[in-house]
Amino acid sequence: MEIEQNLRKIKEEVINCKKCSLHKTRAYPVIGQGNHQAKIILVGEAPGFNEDRTGFPFCGQAGKILDELLNSVDIKREDVYVTNILKCRPPGNRNPRPEEIGACTQYLERQIKIIKPEIICTLGNFSTAYVFEKFGLKNEIQGISKIHGQIFDTDSLRIIPLYHPAVVTYNDNMRETLKKDFGVLVGL
Ligand code: URA
Ligand code: SF4
Repeated sequence: MEIEQNLRKIKEEVINCKKCSLHKTRAYPVIGQGNHQAKIILVGEAPGFNEDRTGFPFCGQAGKILDELLNSVDIKREDVYVTNILKCRPPGNRNPRPEEIGACTQYLERQIKIIKPEIICTLGNFSTAYVFEKFGLKNEIQGISKIHGQIFDTDSLRIIPLYHPAVVTYNDNMRETLKKDFGVLVGL
């Protein structure tokens, strides 16, 4: 099937990618995981420690929280597609740099074109800023604390900015905020 072939091509390119310096320090790149015809794509920031060692997105502590949030709205991880802005881990989990985002997001862009989701949930500030700009919502970009849980419609799809699930590991009070925000997915 064409979808499978096109996604496999991205995987092969990412595995061999040297477009930014992160390829030197990564263990495994994290391409993405889930349903290749998903209605919802979730876009995180970059692989962390566990993701770098396994090649799978959101398989560590933030992933446990993500699963809990999806469960709370009766969505299974297998039904959605999960990926990140950067495919390789920044050393020490530092923030993505503009040149790394510039080099890497062609892969995300192609993943979105192939999977054709109805909804993109952006997780955190970096993902939100990139996806908003890409889909003509540059003027709507604000910090995630201002726009989390709102629905933004574009010509081709809806974008829902959400807090990054990892915020719960720093502040447990955020769990309820995230649960409430994930509630917007019910019935969409
Ligand atoms: N944080 C992210 O943004 N992505 C992952 O895959 C894991 C943690
Ligand atoms: Fe290539 Fe992206 Fe990895 Fe940089 S982060 S080496 S651009 S796959």
